[in-house]
Amino acid sequence: MTHTAQPTASHFINGAYVEDTAGSEIACIYPASGAVVARLHSATPPLVEAALAAAKAAQPVWAAMSGTERGRILRRASDMIRERNEDLSRLETLDTGKPLQETLVADATSAADALEYFGGLAGSLTGEHIPLGGAGGDWAYTVREPLGVCVGIGAWNYPTQIACWKGAPALACGNTMVFKPSETTPLCALKIAEILHEAGAPAGVFNVVQGYGDVGATLVADDRVAKVSLTGSVPTGRKVYAAAAEGMKHVTMELGGKSPLIIFDDADLEDAVGGAVLGNFYSSGQVCSNGTRVFVQSGIREAFLTRLTERLKTVVMGDPLEEATNFGPMVSEAQMNIVLGYIDKGLEEGARLVTGGRRADLEGFFIEPTVFADVTDTMTIAREEIFGPVLSVFEFADEGEAVARANDTSFGLSAGVFTRDLTRAHRVIGQLEAGSCWINTYNLAPVEAPFGGSKLSGVGRENSKEAIYHYSQVKSVYVGMGPVDAPF
Ligand code: NAD
Repeated sequence: MTHTAQPTASHFINGAYVEDTAGSEIACIYPASGAVVARLHSATPPLVEAALAAAKAAQPVWAAMSGTERGRILRRASDMIRERNEDLSRLETLDTGKPLQETLVADATSAADALEYFGGLAGSLTGEHIPLGGAGGDWAYTVREPLGVCVGIGAWNYPTQIACWKGAPALACGNTMVFKPSETTPLCALKIAEILHEAGAPAGVFNVVQGYGDVGATLVADDRVAKVSLTGSVPTGRKVYAAAAEGMKHVTMELGGKSPLIIFDDADLEDAVGGAVLGNFYSSGQVCSNGTRVFVQSGIREAFLTRLTERLKTVVMGDPLEEATNFGPMVSEAQMNIVLGYIDKGLEEGARLVTGGRRADLEGFFIEPTVFADVTDTMTIAREEIFGPVLSVFEFADEGEAVARANDTSFGLSAGVFTRDLTRAHRVIGQLEAGSCWINTYNLAPVEAPFGGSKLSGVGRENSKEAIYHYSQVKSVYVGMGPVDAPF
Protein backbone atom coordinates (compact mmCIF):
# COMPACT_ATOMS: atom_id res chain seq x y z
CA MET A 1 0.00 0.00 0.00
CA THR A 2 1.48 3.33 -1.04
CA HIS A 3 -1.03 6.06 -0.32
CA THR A 4 -1.39 7.33 3.25
CA ALA A 5 -5.16 7.27 3.21
CA GLN A 6 -5.26 3.72 1.90
CA PRO A 7 -6.66 0.81 3.89
CA THR A 8 -4.01 -1.13 5.76
CA ALA A 9 -5.07 -4.67 4.83
CA SER A 10 -7.28 -6.55 2.37
CA HIS A 11 -10.30 -7.25 4.58
CA PHE A 12 -12.18 -5.65 7.45
CA ILE A 13 -13.75 -8.32 9.64
CA ASN A 14 -15.22 -8.10 13.12
CA GLY A 15 -14.01 -4.55 13.68
CA ALA A 16 -10.42 -4.92 12.46
CA TYR A 17 -8.28 -5.04 9.34
CA VAL A 18 -7.22 -8.60 8.53
CA GLU A 19 -4.78 -10.08 6.01
CA ASP A 20 -4.24 -13.60 4.79
CA THR A 21 -1.62 -13.73 2.08
CA ALA A 22 -2.64 -17.29 1.22
CA GLY A 23 -5.52 -15.81 -0.82
CA SER A 24 -4.97 -15.27 -4.54
CA GLU A 25 -3.59 -11.83 -5.37
CA ILE A 26 -5.83 -8.95 -6.41
CA ALA A 27 -3.77 -6.16 -7.97
CA CYS A 28 -5.45 -2.77 -7.80
CA ILE A 29 -4.43 -0.89 -10.93
CA TYR A 30 -4.66 2.88 -11.42
CA PRO A 31 -6.45 3.04 -14.77
CA ALA A 32 -4.84 6.31 -15.79
CA SER A 33 -1.34 4.85 -15.77
CA GLY A 34 -1.58 1.08 -15.50
CA ALA A 35 0.49 1.24 -12.29
CA VAL A 36 -0.31 -1.13 -9.44
CA VAL A 37 -1.36 1.04 -6.48
CA ALA A 38 -2.14 -1.77 -4.06
CA ARG A 39 -1.85 -5.53 -3.83
CA LEU A 40 -4.59 -7.30 -1.94
CA HIS A 41 -5.61 -10.90 -1.45
CA SER A 42 -8.84 -12.72 -2.06
CA ALA A 43 -10.48 -13.97 1.12
CA THR A 44 -9.55 -17.53 2.04
CA PRO A 45 -12.29 -19.86 3.36
CA PRO A 46 -11.35 -19.17 7.03
CA LEU A 47 -11.75 -15.42 6.43
CA VAL A 48 -15.11 -15.82 4.69
CA GLU A 49 -16.18 -17.95 7.66
CA ALA A 50 -14.90 -15.33 10.12
CA ALA A 51 -16.84 -12.56 8.37
CA LEU A 52 -20.10 -14.51 8.29
CA ALA A 53 -19.70 -15.64 11.90
CA ALA A 54 -18.99 -12.06 13.01
CA ALA A 55 -22.01 -10.71 11.14
CA LYS A 56 -24.22 -13.45 12.56
CA ALA A 57 -23.05 -12.84 16.14
CA ALA A 58 -23.35 -9.05 15.89
CA GLN A 59 -26.82 -9.00 14.34
CA PRO A 60 -29.00 -9.54 17.45
CA VAL A 61 -26.87 -7.11 19.43
CA TRP A 62 -27.19 -4.45 16.72
CA ALA A 63 -30.92 -5.09 16.25
CA ALA A 64 -31.49 -4.77 20.01
CA MET A 65 -30.24 -1.18 19.97
CA SER A 66 -32.95 1.41 19.44
CA GLY A 67 -33.36 2.71 15.92
CA THR A 68 -32.35 6.14 17.15
CA GLU A 69 -29.07 4.76 18.51
CA ARG A 70 -28.32 2.92 15.29
CA GLY A 71 -29.24 6.02 13.31
CA ARG A 72 -26.91 8.18 15.40
CA ILE A 73 -23.98 5.91 14.48
CA LEU A 74 -24.85 6.02 10.79
CA ARG A 75 -25.16 9.81 10.87
CA ARG A 76 -21.84 10.11 12.73
CA ALA A 77 -20.24 7.99 9.98
CA SER A 78 -21.83 10.30 7.41
CA ASP A 79 -20.24 13.35 9.07
CA MET A 80 -16.86 11.65 9.18
CA ILE A 81 -17.09 10.81 5.49
CA ARG A 82 -17.84 14.45 4.65
CA GLU A 83 -14.87 15.60 6.76
CA ARG A 84 -12.61 13.14 4.93
CA ASN A 85 -14.13 13.74 1.51
CA GLU A 86 -10.84 14.87 -0.06
CA ASP A 87 -8.90 11.74 0.97
CA LEU A 88 -11.78 9.40 0.17
CA SER A 89 -12.25 11.01 -3.23
CA ARG A 90 -8.56 10.62 -4.05
CA LEU A 91 -8.81 6.96 -3.09
CA GLU A 92 -11.92 6.52 -5.27
CA THR A 93 -10.00 8.13 -8.15
CA LEU A 94 -7.08 5.71 -7.65
CA ASP A 95 -9.50 2.77 -7.41
CA THR A 96 -11.62 3.66 -10.48
CA GLY A 97 -9.76 6.26 -12.55
CA LYS A 98 -12.75 8.60 -12.37
CA PRO A 99 -11.68 12.25 -12.37
CA LEU A 100 -11.28 13.93 -8.99
CA GLN A 101 -13.63 16.61 -10.34
CA GLU A 102 -16.34 13.91 -10.20
CA THR A 103 -15.32 11.90 -7.17
CA LEU A 104 -15.21 15.02 -4.98
CA VAL A 105 -18.94 15.56 -5.54
CA ALA A 106 -20.47 12.20 -6.49
CA ASP A 107 -18.98 9.35 -4.52
CA ALA A 108 -18.09 9.80 -0.85
CA THR A 109 -20.73 12.55 -0.74
CA SER A 110 -23.38 10.17 -2.11
CA ALA A 111 -22.30 7.57 0.46
CA ALA A 112 -22.63 10.20 3.20
CA ASP A 113 -26.09 11.13 1.93
CA ALA A 114 -27.22 7.50 2.19
CA LEU A 115 -25.89 7.13 5.75
CA GLU A 116 -27.48 10.44 6.77
CA TYR A 117 -30.84 9.65 5.16
CA PHE A 118 -31.18 6.09 6.48
CA GLY A 119 -29.68 7.15 9.81
CA GLY A 120 -32.52 9.66 10.03
CA LEU A 121 -35.14 7.04 9.17
CA ALA A 122 -33.82 4.37 11.57
CA GLY A 123 -35.76 5.66 14.57
CA SER A 124 -39.07 5.71 12.75
CA LEU A 125 -39.29 2.14 11.43
CA THR A 126 -42.45 1.22 13.24
CA GLY A 127 -45.37 -1.11 12.57
CA GLU A 128 -49.10 -0.54 12.49
CA HIS A 129 -51.99 -0.99 14.87
CA ILE A 130 -54.93 -2.69 13.11
CA PRO A 131 -58.28 -2.58 14.94
CA LEU A 132 -60.44 -5.63 14.08
CA GLY A 133 -63.70 -4.95 15.88
CA GLY A 134 -65.90 -7.74 17.20
CA ALA A 135 -67.21 -8.21 20.70
CA GLY A 136 -63.85 -8.38 22.46
CA GLY A 137 -62.26 -5.72 20.30
CA ASP A 138 -59.62 -7.96 18.77
CA TRP A 139 -56.73 -6.19 17.12
CA ALA A 140 -53.53 -6.92 15.29
CA TYR A 141 -50.24 -5.18 15.12
CA THR A 142 -47.26 -5.36 12.82
CA VAL A 143 -43.59 -5.24 13.62
CA ARG A 144 -40.96 -4.29 11.04
CA GLU A 145 -38.11 -6.72 11.70
CA PRO A 146 -34.62 -6.99 10.23
CA LEU A 147 -33.89 -9.89 7.88
CA GLY A 148 -30.62 -10.91 9.56
CA VAL A 149 -27.24 -11.16 7.83
CA CYS A 150 -27.21 -9.45 4.43
CA VAL A 151 -24.61 -9.89 1.71
CA GLY A 152 -23.76 -6.94 -0.54
CA ILE A 153 -21.85 -7.52 -3.78
CA GLY A 154 -20.56 -4.52 -5.70
CA ALA A 155 -19.72 -3.51 -9.26
CA TRP A 156 -16.62 -1.43 -10.02
CA ASN A 157 -18.08 1.85 -11.20
CA TYR A 158 -19.20 3.41 -7.87
CA PRO A 159 -17.43 1.40 -5.13
CA THR A 160 -17.96 3.84 -2.24
CA GLN A 161 -21.53 4.66 -3.19
CA ILE A 162 -22.54 1.03 -3.74
CA ALA A 163 -21.17 0.01 -0.31
CA CYS A 164 -23.35 2.66 1.35
CA TRP A 165 -26.46 2.35 -0.83
CA LYS A 166 -26.53 -1.24 0.41
CA GLY A 167 -24.99 -0.87 3.86
CA ALA A 168 -26.93 2.17 5.09
CA PRO A 169 -30.49 0.83 4.68
CA ALA A 170 -29.41 -2.66 5.78
CA LEU A 171 -27.87 -1.35 8.99
CA ALA A 172 -30.69 1.14 9.64
CA CYS A 173 -33.13 -1.79 9.72
CA GLY A 174 -31.02 -3.74 12.23
CA ASN A 175 -29.30 -6.12 9.82
CA THR A 176 -25.59 -6.74 9.61
CA MET A 177 -23.66 -7.00 6.37
CA VAL A 178 -20.80 -8.79 4.69
CA PHE A 179 -19.85 -6.73 1.66
CA LYS A 180 -17.72 -7.97 -1.23
CA PRO A 181 -16.44 -5.20 -3.48
CA SER A 182 -15.66 -5.78 -7.13
CA GLU A 183 -12.20 -7.31 -7.55
CA THR A 184 -11.43 -4.42 -9.92
CA THR A 185 -11.99 -1.71 -7.25
CA PRO A 186 -11.26 -3.25 -3.86
CA LEU A 187 -10.12 -0.24 -1.83
CA CYS A 188 -12.98 2.14 -1.03
CA ALA A 189 -15.43 -0.15 0.77
CA LEU A 190 -12.70 -0.90 3.32
CA LYS A 191 -12.61 2.77 4.32
CA ILE A 192 -16.39 2.71 4.78
CA ALA A 193 -16.08 -0.29 7.11
CA GLU A 194 -13.29 1.46 9.04
CA ILE A 195 -15.32 4.67 9.39
CA LEU A 196 -18.51 2.88 10.45
CA HIS A 197 -16.55 1.10 13.14
CA GLU A 198 -14.91 4.33 14.29
CA ALA A 199 -18.36 5.96 14.39
CA GLY A 200 -19.50 3.33 16.88
CA ALA A 201 -20.86 0.40 14.89
CA PRO A 202 -20.09 -2.70 16.98
CA ALA A 203 -17.56 -5.19 15.62
CA GLY A 204 -19.11 -7.47 13.02
CA VAL A 205 -21.89 -5.09 11.94
CA PHE A 206 -20.26 -4.18 8.61
CA ASN A 207 -17.55 -6.46 7.25
CA VAL A 208 -15.68 -6.33 3.96
CA VAL A 209 -14.11 -9.34 2.27
CA GLN A 210 -12.30 -9.24 -1.05
CA GLY A 211 -12.56 -11.75 -3.79
CA TYR A 212 -13.59 -12.76 -7.26
CA GLY A 213 -16.93 -14.30 -8.19
CA ASP A 214 -16.17 -17.50 -6.25
CA VAL A 215 -16.06 -15.60 -2.95
CA GLY A 216 -19.34 -13.90 -3.87
CA ALA A 217 -20.90 -17.27 -4.67
CA THR A 218 -19.74 -18.74 -1.34
CA LEU A 219 -21.34 -15.86 0.53
CA VAL A 220 -24.61 -16.14 -1.38
CA ALA A 221 -24.88 -19.87 -0.70
CA ASP A 222 -24.31 -19.68 3.05
CA ASP A 223 -27.29 -20.67 5.22
CA ARG A 224 -26.69 -17.81 7.64
CA VAL A 225 -27.40 -15.26 4.90
CA ALA A 226 -30.96 -13.93 4.66
CA LYS A 227 -30.61 -11.45 1.83
CA VAL A 228 -28.35 -10.70 -1.11
CA SER A 229 -28.06 -7.35 -2.86
CA LEU A 230 -26.04 -7.36 -6.07
CA THR A 231 -24.98 -4.51 -8.32
CA GLY A 232 -23.58 -6.04 -11.47
CA SER A 233 -24.33 -7.39 -14.90
CA VAL A 234 -27.38 -9.39 -15.99
CA PRO A 235 -25.46 -12.69 -16.42
CA THR A 236 -24.10 -12.42 -12.86
CA GLY A 237 -27.54 -11.39 -11.64
CA ARG A 238 -29.05 -14.57 -13.07
CA LYS A 239 -26.51 -16.73 -11.24
CA VAL A 240 -26.83 -14.89 -7.94
CA TYR A 241 -30.64 -14.78 -8.06
CA ALA A 242 -30.77 -18.52 -8.80
CA ALA A 243 -28.36 -19.35 -5.98
CA ALA A 244 -30.34 -17.17 -3.56
CA ALA A 245 -33.55 -18.92 -4.60
CA GLU A 246 -32.15 -22.23 -3.29
CA GLY A 247 -32.37 -20.80 0.21
CA MET A 248 -35.49 -18.67 -0.53
CA LYS A 249 -33.40 -15.59 0.27
CA HIS A 250 -34.49 -12.03 -0.33
CA VAL A 251 -32.73 -10.31 -3.22
CA THR A 252 -32.14 -6.87 -4.66
CA MET A 253 -30.72 -6.95 -8.18
CA GLU A 254 -29.32 -3.73 -9.63
CA LEU A 255 -28.23 -4.82 -13.08
CA GLY A 256 -27.39 -3.45 -16.48
CA GLY A 257 -29.31 -1.31 -18.92
CA LYS A 258 -29.62 0.01 -22.46
CA SER A 259 -31.78 2.97 -21.67
CA PRO A 260 -33.57 5.31 -24.10
CA LEU A 261 -33.32 9.08 -24.00
CA ILE A 262 -36.01 10.66 -26.20
CA ILE A 263 -35.49 14.21 -27.45
CA PHE A 264 -38.45 15.92 -29.11
CA ASP A 265 -38.21 18.80 -31.62
CA ASP A 266 -39.52 21.29 -29.05
CA ALA A 267 -36.85 20.49 -26.43
CA ASP A 268 -34.43 23.12 -25.20
CA LEU A 269 -31.42 22.21 -27.33
CA GLU A 270 -28.69 23.07 -24.80
CA ASP A 271 -30.49 21.18 -22.03
CA ALA A 272 -31.07 18.17 -24.27
CA VAL A 273 -27.39 18.09 -25.25
CA GLY A 274 -26.47 18.51 -21.58
CA GLY A 275 -28.72 15.59 -20.67
CA ALA A 276 -27.16 13.42 -23.35
CA VAL A 277 -23.68 14.33 -22.06
CA LEU A 278 -24.64 13.47 -18.46
CA GLY A 279 -26.33 10.29 -19.66
CA ASN A 280 -23.40 9.03 -21.73
CA PHE A 281 -20.06 10.50 -20.75
CA TYR A 282 -20.09 11.05 -16.98
CA SER A 283 -17.71 8.50 -15.42
CA SER A 284 -16.57 7.90 -19.01
CA GLY A 285 -19.86 6.18 -19.72
CA GLN A 286 -19.51 3.55 -17.00
CA VAL A 287 -22.94 4.16 -15.48
CA CYS A 288 -25.69 1.54 -15.47
CA SER A 289 -28.55 4.00 -16.00
CA ASN A 290 -26.97 5.70 -19.01
CA GLY A 291 -29.30 6.78 -21.82
CA THR A 292 -27.15 5.30 -24.56
CA ARG A 293 -29.95 5.05 -27.11
CA VAL A 294 -30.62 8.69 -27.91
CA PHE A 295 -33.78 9.00 -30.02
CA VAL A 296 -33.83 12.46 -31.62
CA GLN A 297 -36.84 13.75 -33.54
CA SER A 298 -36.08 14.57 -37.18
CA GLY A 299 -36.54 18.33 -36.89
CA ILE A 300 -33.84 18.81 -34.23
CA ARG A 301 -31.45 16.03 -35.21
CA GLU A 302 -28.86 18.01 -37.19
CA ALA A 303 -28.75 20.82 -34.63
CA PHE A 304 -28.42 18.26 -31.83
CA LEU A 305 -25.50 16.48 -33.50
CA THR A 306 -23.75 19.78 -34.24
CA ARG A 307 -24.02 21.10 -30.66
CA LEU A 308 -23.13 17.73 -29.14
CA THR A 309 -19.99 17.52 -31.26
CA GLU A 310 -19.04 21.11 -30.36
CA ARG A 311 -19.49 20.50 -26.67
CA LEU A 312 -17.49 17.26 -26.76
CA LYS A 313 -14.53 19.29 -28.09
CA THR A 314 -14.30 20.89 -24.61
CA VAL A 315 -13.65 17.52 -22.91
CA VAL A 316 -10.46 17.60 -20.83
CA MET A 317 -8.82 14.17 -20.77
CA GLY A 318 -5.74 13.54 -18.69
CA ASP A 319 -4.57 12.75 -15.19
CA PRO A 320 -7.78 12.21 -13.18
CA LEU A 321 -6.04 13.55 -10.06
CA GLU A 322 -5.80 16.97 -11.77
CA GLU A 323 -8.98 18.83 -10.96
CA ALA A 324 -9.21 20.34 -14.46
CA THR A 325 -9.64 16.84 -15.93
CA ASN A 326 -13.29 16.06 -16.60
CA PHE A 327 -12.99 12.80 -18.51
CA GLY A 328 -11.12 9.75 -17.22
CA PRO A 329 -10.08 6.34 -18.52
CA MET A 330 -11.98 3.05 -18.58
CA VAL A 331 -11.68 1.23 -15.27
CA SER A 332 -9.44 -1.49 -16.70
CA GLU A 333 -7.65 -2.64 -19.81
CA ALA A 334 -10.23 -5.41 -20.16
CA GLN A 335 -13.13 -2.95 -20.11
CA MET A 336 -11.31 -0.72 -22.60
CA ASN A 337 -10.96 -3.65 -24.99
CA ILE A 338 -14.64 -4.56 -24.62
CA VAL A 339 -15.67 -0.99 -25.49
CA LEU A 340 -13.22 -0.76 -28.43
CA GLY A 341 -14.69 -4.05 -29.68
CA TYR A 342 -18.18 -2.51 -29.67
CA ILE A 343 -16.92 0.54 -31.54
CA ASP A 344 -15.46 -1.74 -34.23
CA LYS A 345 -18.77 -3.60 -34.39
CA GLY A 346 -20.65 -0.32 -34.86
CA LEU A 347 -18.40 0.60 -37.79
CA GLU A 348 -18.66 -2.88 -39.31
CA GLU A 349 -22.46 -2.85 -39.10
CA GLY A 350 -22.68 0.51 -40.87
CA ALA A 351 -23.22 3.13 -38.16
CA ARG A 352 -21.80 6.57 -39.02
CA LEU A 353 -19.01 7.71 -36.70
CA VAL A 354 -19.58 11.37 -35.86
CA THR A 355 -16.76 11.87 -33.40
CA GLY A 356 -14.26 9.87 -31.31
CA GLY A 357 -14.04 6.14 -31.91
CA ARG A 358 -10.44 5.52 -30.87
CA ARG A 359 -8.22 4.81 -27.92
CA ALA A 360 -6.85 8.19 -26.85
CA ASP A 361 -3.16 8.93 -27.30
CA LEU A 362 -2.47 8.90 -23.57
CA GLU A 363 -1.00 6.57 -20.98
CA GLY A 364 -3.78 4.52 -19.36
CA PHE A 365 -7.03 3.08 -20.65
CA PHE A 366 -8.63 6.16 -22.24
CA ILE A 367 -11.20 6.03 -25.03
CA GLU A 368 -12.35 9.18 -26.79
CA PRO A 369 -15.97 10.18 -26.24
CA THR A 370 -17.68 8.53 -29.19
CA VAL A 371 -20.88 9.39 -31.05
CA PHE A 372 -22.51 7.24 -33.71
CA ALA A 373 -25.38 8.49 -35.91
CA ASP A 374 -27.59 6.60 -38.36
CA VAL A 375 -27.80 3.74 -35.91
CA THR A 376 -30.56 1.23 -36.58
CA ASP A 377 -32.48 -0.68 -33.92
CA THR A 378 -31.00 -4.07 -34.84
CA MET A 379 -27.31 -3.15 -34.70
CA THR A 380 -25.26 -4.72 -31.91
CA ILE A 381 -24.43 -1.28 -30.46
CA ALA A 382 -28.18 -0.60 -30.26
CA ARG A 383 -28.97 -3.77 -28.36
CA GLU A 384 -26.12 -4.63 -25.98
CA GLU A 385 -24.89 -2.72 -22.97
CA ILE A 386 -21.47 -1.24 -23.85
CA PHE A 387 -20.60 0.41 -20.51
CA GLY A 388 -18.28 2.97 -22.01
CA PRO A 389 -18.37 6.43 -23.66
CA VAL A 390 -20.37 5.46 -26.74
CA LEU A 391 -23.57 7.34 -27.60
CA SER A 392 -25.84 6.19 -30.43
CA VAL A 393 -28.24 8.58 -32.14
CA PHE A 394 -31.46 7.22 -33.67
CA GLU A 395 -33.85 9.36 -35.69
CA PHE A 396 -37.62 9.22 -35.19
CA ALA A 397 -40.69 10.94 -36.64
CA ASP A 398 -43.47 10.76 -34.07
CA GLU A 399 -44.23 10.03 -30.45
CA GLY A 400 -45.79 6.58 -30.89
CA GLU A 401 -42.81 5.40 -32.89
CA ALA A 402 -40.37 6.72 -30.29
CA VAL A 403 -42.14 4.94 -27.42
CA ALA A 404 -42.38 1.63 -29.29
CA ARG A 405 -38.72 1.67 -30.29
CA ALA A 406 -37.59 2.82 -26.85
CA ASN A 407 -39.38 -0.14 -25.24
CA ASP A 408 -37.99 -2.64 -27.74
CA THR A 409 -35.32 -3.96 -25.39
CA SER A 410 -35.11 -6.62 -22.71
CA PHE A 411 -33.59 -4.08 -20.29
CA GLY A 412 -35.69 -1.64 -18.25
CA LEU A 413 -33.45 0.34 -15.93
CA SER A 414 -33.95 3.96 -16.98
CA ALA A 415 -35.48 6.32 -19.50
CA GLY A 416 -35.53 10.05 -20.17
CA VAL A 417 -37.57 12.58 -22.11
CA PHE A 418 -36.71 16.11 -23.20
CA THR A 419 -39.67 18.24 -24.33
CA ARG A 420 -41.28 21.55 -23.41
CA ASP A 421 -44.75 19.96 -23.78
CA LEU A 422 -45.87 19.15 -20.24
CA THR A 423 -48.59 16.67 -21.10
CA ARG A 424 -46.45 14.85 -23.64
CA ALA A 425 -43.63 14.47 -21.11
CA HIS A 426 -45.85 12.66 -18.63
CA ARG A 427 -47.74 10.69 -21.29
CA VAL A 428 -44.49 9.35 -22.74
CA ILE A 429 -42.90 8.57 -19.37
CA GLY A 430 -46.11 6.77 -18.42
CA GLN A 431 -45.60 4.37 -21.33
CA LEU A 432 -41.88 3.73 -20.96
CA GLU A 433 -40.91 0.39 -19.42
CA ALA A 434 -38.25 1.54 -16.98
CA GLY A 435 -37.80 1.89 -13.24
CA SER A 436 -35.87 5.17 -12.96
CA CYS A 437 -36.97 7.98 -15.27
CA TRP A 438 -36.15 11.63 -15.88
CA ILE A 439 -37.96 14.53 -17.53
CA ASN A 440 -35.78 17.37 -18.85
CA THR A 441 -32.69 16.15 -17.03
CA TYR A 442 -30.79 12.86 -16.81
CA ASN A 443 -28.95 10.55 -14.41
CA LEU A 444 -29.51 12.40 -11.15
CA ALA A 445 -29.98 9.81 -8.40
CA PRO A 446 -30.56 11.45 -5.02
CA VAL A 447 -31.02 9.18 -2.01
CA GLU A 448 -34.55 10.48 -1.46
CA ALA A 449 -35.85 8.94 -4.72
CA PRO A 450 -36.15 5.19 -5.43
CA PHE A 451 -33.61 3.75 -7.85
CA GLY A 452 -33.77 0.45 -9.72
CA GLY A 453 -34.91 -1.35 -12.82
CA SER A 454 -37.67 -3.38 -14.40
CA LYS A 455 -37.44 -6.24 -16.92
CA LEU A 456 -33.91 -7.73 -17.03
CA SER A 457 -32.45 -4.69 -15.28
CA GLY A 458 -33.39 -5.83 -11.85
CA VAL A 459 -35.55 -6.60 -8.89
CA GLY A 460 -36.19 -4.33 -5.93
CA ARG A 461 -35.25 -0.71 -5.36
CA GLU A 462 -32.40 1.07 -3.63
CA ASN A 463 -32.60 4.43 -1.86
CA SER A 464 -35.66 6.21 -0.45
CA LYS A 465 -38.17 4.63 1.92
CA GLU A 466 -38.60 1.85 -0.68
CA ALA A 467 -35.22 0.40 0.33
CA ILE A 468 -36.55 -0.15 3.86
CA TYR A 469 -39.05 -2.69 2.49
CA HIS A 470 -36.20 -4.58 0.87
CA TYR A 471 -34.12 -4.82 4.06
CA SER A 472 -36.88 -5.69 6.51
CA GLN A 473 -39.89 -7.94 6.81
CA VAL A 474 -43.20 -7.55 8.55
CA LYS A 475 -44.39 -9.76 11.36
CA SER A 476 -48.12 -9.54 11.99
CA VAL A 477 -49.56 -10.40 15.37
CA TYR A 478 -53.25 -11.09 15.96
CA VAL A 479 -54.33 -10.31 19.51
CA GLY A 480 -57.43 -12.13 20.76
CA MET A 481 -59.27 -10.04 23.36
CA GLY A 482 -62.25 -12.32 24.06
CA PRO A 483 -63.19 -15.98 24.46
CA VAL A 484 -62.01 -18.37 21.72
CA ASP A 485 -64.93 -19.38 19.48
CA ALA A 486 -64.06 -22.97 18.35
CA PRO A 487 -66.52 -25.30 16.46
CA PHE A 488 -65.99 -28.28 18.77
P1 NAD B 1 -20.16 -8.20 -12.81
O1 NAD B 1 -21.51 -8.77 -12.95
O2 NAD B 1 -19.06 -8.78 -13.61
O3 NAD B 1 -19.68 -8.32 -11.29
C1 NAD B 1 -20.43 -7.77 -10.25
C2 NAD B 1 -19.98 -8.38 -8.93
O4 NAD B 1 -20.43 -9.73 -8.85
C3 NAD B 1 -18.47 -8.43 -8.71
O5 NAD B 1 -18.20 -8.09 -7.37
C4 NAD B 1 -18.14 -9.89 -8.98
O6 NAD B 1 -17.00 -10.34 -8.32
C5 NAD B 1 -19.38 -10.57 -8.44
N1 NAD B 1 -19.65 -11.91 -8.97
C6 NAD B 1 -19.33 -12.42 -10.19
N2 NAD B 1 -19.79 -13.68 -10.31
C7 NAD B 1 -20.43 -13.97 -9.15
C8 NAD B 1 -21.14 -15.12 -8.67
N3 NAD B 1 -21.29 -16.23 -9.40
N4 NAD B 1 -21.69 -15.08 -7.42
C9 NAD B 1 -21.57 -13.96 -6.68
N5 NAD B 1 -20.91 -12.85 -7.08
C10 NAD B 1 -20.34 -12.86 -8.30
O7 NAD B 1 -20.34 -6.65 -13.06
P2 NAD B 1 -19.21 -5.52 -13.21
O8 NAD B 1 -18.51 -5.75 -14.50
O9 NAD B 1 -18.43 -5.42 -11.95
O10 NAD B 1 -20.13 -4.20 -13.31
C11 NAD B 1 -20.69 -3.75 -14.49
C12 NAD B 1 -22.16 -4.13 -14.55
O11 NAD B 1 -22.85 -3.66 -13.40
C13 NAD B 1 -22.87 -3.51 -15.73
O12 NAD B 1 -23.73 -4.44 -16.35
C14 NAD B 1 -23.67 -2.39 -15.11
O13 NAD B 1 -24.77 -1.99 -15.84
C15 NAD B 1 -24.02 -2.96 -13.79
N6 NAD B 1 -24.34 -1.89 -12.84
C16 NAD B 1 -25.63 -1.73 -12.42
C17 NAD B 1 -25.96 -0.72 -11.55
C18 NAD B 1 -27.38 -0.52 -11.08
O14 NAD B 1 -27.58 0.10 -10.06
N7 NAD B 1 -28.37 -1.02 -11.76
C19 NAD B 1 -24.96 0.12 -11.07
C20 NAD B 1 -23.66 -0.08 -11.50
C21 NAD B 1 -23.36 -1.09 -12.38
